[in-house]
Amino acid sequence: MLVAQGRLDVEGALTARDRVGIQDFVLLDETTEVAVISNLKKRFSKDLIYTYIGTLIVSVNPYKDLDIYSKKQMDVYMGVNFFELPPHIYALADNAYHTMLTEFNNHFILISGESGAGKTEASKKILQYYAVSCPSTTLMNTVRDKMLMSNPVLEAFGNAKTLKNDNSSRFGKYMDIQFDSQGDAVGGHILNYLLEKSRVVHQNHGERNFHVFYQLVEGGSDDLLTQLGLERDVQHYYYLTQGECAIVSSINDKNDWKSVKNALQVIEFDETNTNHLFRVVASVLHLGNVHFDPDSKGHALLKNNTELNWVSDLLGVDANSLKEGLTFRKIEAKTEQVLSPFTIDHAIYVRDALAKAIYGQTFTWLVNRINESMENKLCTKNTEIFALFVVSFEQFCINYCNEKLQQLFIQLTLKAEQEEYEAEGIEWEPVQFFNNKIICDLVEEKHRGIISILDEECLRPGDATDLTFLERLEEKMGNHPHFLVCQSKNTIVRECFSAVDTTNKRRPETVATQFKNSLQKLTEMLMAKEAWYIRCLKSNESKQPGQFDEALIRHQVKYLGLMEHLRVRRAGFAYRRKYEDFLKRYKPLCPATWPHWRGIPADGVELLVQHLGYLPDEYKMGRTKIFIRHPRTLYATEDAYEK
Ligand code: ATP
Ligand code: MG
Repeated sequence: MLVAQGRLDVEGALTARDRVGIQDFVLLDETTEVAVISNLKKRFSKDLIYTYIGTLIVSVNPYKDLDIYSKKQMDVYMGVNFFELPPHIYALADNAYHTMLTEFNNHFILISGESGAGKTEASKKILQYYAVSCPSTTLMNTVRDKMLMSNPVLEAFGNAKTLKNDNSSRFGKYMDIQFDSQGDAVGGHILNYLLEKSRVVHQNHGERNFHVFYQLVEGGSDDLLTQLGLERDVQHYYYLTQGECAIVSSINDKNDWKSVKNALQVIEFDETNTNHLFRVVASVLHLGNVHFDPDSKGHALLKNNTELNWVSDLLGVDANSLKEGLTFRKIEAKTEQVLSPFTIDHAIYVRDALAKAIYGQTFTWLVNRINESMENKLCTKNTEIFALFVVSFEQFCINYCNEKLQQLFIQLTLKAEQEEYEAEGIEWEPVQFFNNKIICDLVEEKHRGIISILDEECLRPGDATDLTFLERLEEKMGNHPHFLVCQSKNTIVRECFSAVDTTNKRRPETVATQFKNSLQKLTEMLMAKEAWYIRCLKSNESKQPGQFDEALIRHQVKYLGLMEHLRVRRAGFAYRRKYEDFLKRYKPLCPATWPHWRGIPADGVELLVQHLGYLPDEYKMGRTKIFIRHPRTLYATEDAYEK
């Protein structure tokens, strides 16, 4: 259906434009925010959720299944020029892929937007597209299956229901897909950062813990639950019930559990690993049910030993050490060790810190195992492409991350634009725009930046903030003989904590510093690659199909910098097209170029535009492309083509 509508650049002359809006914002008559939003709204009402700004895709979450992701649709977009069909995420995926193969360079697709805007869905659609469209051999199929199957597993452990999104990713993800020169997918790598560990022990009202806990309790077999000492009742677990919404109608935990188990097999988790993984998940649930009573002095005493014994059994650690670690601090005096008992609050804090540490390390372990299974076994990596999805949770980190990515976006778009004009020998006037480097510096500058100051504050002895407290605690825990869970009989736990133990000997880094460093590394990697952007917008806050909340959209258009991008795009020449492509499309409009032009394409284009009456100021001839200043010039040509 979409194919029938498909036309070059604009969805047709005025009538079609009125009907379904314009498919590329660059072609809007006015570049006002009002015009942009009204165009988005018009398209949204026709279920046209994608719109271009040049090669950037703006996507608006429809909150309903659209019939645009079928195999048939994928076939339609394969190997087709970007603007020949209506905007689609497949067009972007396909173009990135083919450019990579023809230009032998590295690419990345940056998917951004607020929670619930559709980033994860977009990334999955792109992976599915590659899975279907790339050439296949048995080995490639395996890599591909693993790449696809890593999703349900990572979502089970890293996604949760929040107020904004029933399947919200609570970690940042960056996925790298390696292709060889034939375009076969030969390997993949996932980098995860900043899992929201606090969710393991605390959920706000209306939110849930990570999906996997509910999946295990709802979907695990009777035998498995008995082995793990679990009851088939999510309400029984303190860590699952704080949000008071353990059961959600849009989520089928039982079925999802089956998919996760199946996916674990595809990514080659053997029985031992799978079993140890489930034991860790169960141990966290038991840990949450370890409660304390005060003794006569108000010190923490275990309410009973049952849950603690389960934790000890599941993790393979000594029950007495665990008990001591949860209720006492060991102070090394000159000649002796003194046990200083915890208050109840302190004991709860330590219990929760342990649960977070276990879960967080296990998540990292899981990603590492998935990476091992997707490793490029052929070592024939020539080019690569990857999708990046960003999400974070702490407001500070969200803002900082957005500023950083926005900076990258400005740098890359402008850089690309300047380079293109230079390469094509076109003169142009650079546009002034707000460069947010200032903001990023404010956050990250050494010694003076917010993060440095935060670091200093946190690491300074004296007043304990939450963060310092936690870090000191974790540091202490790492050296605490009773917690050296390194001795654990559970291989996952042992591997995870032997790693923690060594890193803890260094000066601890605050979460903010870790985040800054990982973003820094990421930006450096990204700068060396060609960028493709998908900007996801949320249509409404109530997750309803068909609702287009203008105020909400306006806010996102602003903060995703869409108007800026549009301005940069239109500042010089709104449109550019390779001579061959331009000629191929419009040659019927000029007797000199129809039916065949036998000379060099640039000459043919020159004849063509002169015949069409382009004024000298309206276009420029580059080395390989024609540059057109105003969209209306192209409209006129397109209208002429239609007649
Ligand atoms: P978060 O930052 O919280 O992880 P997100 O941007 O990854 O959010 P998604 O999980 O991708 O958001 O999308 C939220 C929900 O919106 C999906 O579960 C799905 O119901 C709906 N949705 C998103 N994109 C589409 C789409 N293209 N078609 C239909 N529904 C969609
Ligand atoms: Mg997501």
